[in-house]
Order: sequence, then C-alpha cells, then structure tokens
Amino acid sequence: MSQEKQKILLIYTGGTIGMVKDFKTGALRTFDFKTLLDKIPELRLLDCNIETVSFQDPIDSSNMNPTYWVQIAEIIEANYESFDGFVVLHGSDTMSYTASALSFMLENLAKPVVFTGSQLPIGDLRTDAKENLITSIQVASLHEKNKPVIKEVCLYFEYKLYRANRTTKVSAEHFEAFQSPNYPDLAQSGVHLKINTDDLYNPNVNKPLKTYKDFDTNVAIIKLFPGITESFMRSILLTPNLKGVILETYGAGNCTTAAWFSDLLSDAIRKGVYVINITQCTKGTVVMGRYETSNQLKHIGVISGKDLTTEAAITKLMWLLGNKTDANTFKTMFESSLRGEMS
Ligand code: ASP
Repeated sequence: MSQEKQKILLIYTGGTIGMVKDFKTGALRTFDFKTLLDKIPELRLLDCNIETVSFQDPIDSSNMNPTYWVQIAEIIEANYESFDGFVVLHGSDTMSYTASALSFMLENLAKPVVFTGSQLPIGDLRTDAKENLITSIQVASLHEKNKPVIKEVCLYFEYKLYRANRTTKVSAEHFEAFQSPNYPDLAQSGVHLKINTDDLYNPNVNKPLKTYKDFDTNVAIIKLFPGITESFMRSILLTPNLKGVILETYGAGNCTTAAWFSDLLSDAIRKGVYVINITQCTKGTVVMGRYETSNQLKHIGVISGKDLTTEAAITKLMWLLGNKTDANTFKTMFESSLRGEMS
C-alpha cells in the first residue's frame, strides 16, 4: 500500500541561509522565498510535499525577541493539523535561544520541529545551506507506521541533529557551529541517517498541543569573574521590576564566599527575585554544597539550574515567569526537566 507523502512546512524567519550575494555590491540580501525551489532544485527530489511561509520582513537573528518567538509558535499552531513536520530557517546567532523557547512554548508537541540555518548563504558556491536544509526536511519527514519519528523541537546543523534546548552556538567560523555538551546527538547524517532512538524525547502524545505565549523579560544574566564588584552586583540586583537572575558561576556552581555577595543575593531572594545557578563550564552540572564555595548559595535559596545551557536557562526563566508560576512551585518546576532540557 503506498503511503501518502509527508507534508512539511518550511518557515523562513531570516538569517544567512536565506540570503544571496549581490554580485555588484558584494552585500548579502534576502531573496524571495517563493523561489526556493528554483534556488535548490534538489528539493524536488525529496519524497515529501513542501510548502513555505516567510516572515514578512525576514530578520538577522540578532534582532530576535519573544514577540518573534510567538509569531513562530503561532505559525506552527495554525498549521499543526495540516502538516506532518515543520522546519524553521533561522539565523544561527540566536537559534539556540529561539529553539529552546519554542520547546517550552509547545507542550505535548507530537510532531517534529527542526531548526536549521547556515554559516554561508544559500547562493554561495561553498554553502552549507543546502545540506542543512535538505537533511532537516528529511528528518522532519521521518515516519514509522504513519507516526512521526521525531516528536520534539530539535536543531540540525552540519551532519548532526540535536535536542534544541541542549544546544549552544560554539563557532562563528566552522560549519560545525553548534554543540550539545550535556546530551547525546539525536542523529548523525553520514551515508545513512542514523537515529539514536533511545535518546529521542517521548512526549505524552494523547494530550493535545498546548501553546504558551507569555514571556516575562524582567530578567538578567550575571556572569561571575574574579574581581566582580559589589557595586556592579548591587546595580543589577536593584534593577526595577527584576524578577529573575541567571547566575553563571564557576565549576560545579561555586562563587566567592565574600559576605557582601551572599548578602546581596539573599536580600534579592527575600524580595521575591528568583536566582538560578548555572555553570560557566560548557560541560557538567551544578551541585550546590559539593564545595564550601557553593554551600551558602544553597542555604539562601538559590535554585539549581543543574546542567542547563545559558540559552535554556534564560528562556525557561522568562517562560515560567510569563506563565505566572506560583512561588511555591517555581523552584520545583525550574529544577525539573520539563522538555528534556536538563539531566
Ligand atoms: N547574523 C546571522 C544571523 O544569526 C548569522 C547566521 O545566519 O548564521 O541571523
């Protein structure tokens, strides 16, 4: 019995992947996405039906913000029943933030949402855009017994598929621009597409998709460094309306034991500001209390971000705050894995 072709929606938000070089000026400019199939005729060879939708004004992803995240989520929500999978084309600079945010926004997601982009524009001779795009579409089309294989938000770049909320951009130079430091790759693309089935996310597919659209941006990220001053810390913690802080600490979650430091944090926490401890190390996890230099944080009520990436931590914080998460459950919610974002 012949299976129906999978329907994939390609959502173009901007970024290098959708640009071509103006050979007269040398500048990169976005091209009309409706002509995508002309630019990449190989797409016609894929065994799926592709439709495209584009942001009215495609953006460089450095201009991304929660309003655009909602736009992407709404496109997916509006087309959820009519398509089998979604590929989001996005600039690589902030792709991990957007993809992490989308993972929190789309609860009970039972279809693939694959983010991809490229380091070189699609029109460039040495472009990485074609492989990234073609394989992302293939990944989004994978199905078994008429059910999608991937049921989560992921990110495909340079022969690897990652869980999106585990990724971080690590290179502005190499084609291998992303890493998933604390979680295995979901798939590798070589001669064959090798899916690591055991590592895929298993959502509750019996519940309908629920889309959350509120974020609270009254947050801050503080990266500690030897020499950080009391006045700097105070100025951030006294920011009007501040509701949450991601503290990037050393090693396994350690920081200075200076009294002024924990006093400032403790005051902020008492006033209702959530303080989350994540590590500056790319790999590994926060374990508060392992060293004397993190014990005080535990006692004053700092929340553990465990092995979250900065991107997942800040988007999770804005999302939980946006949903008016109850103060009694905030810590438990933050310290639990909601979409496979932490170990
Ligand atoms: N600045 C670009 C962006 O993030 C870089 C890229 O597309 O990879 O939109």
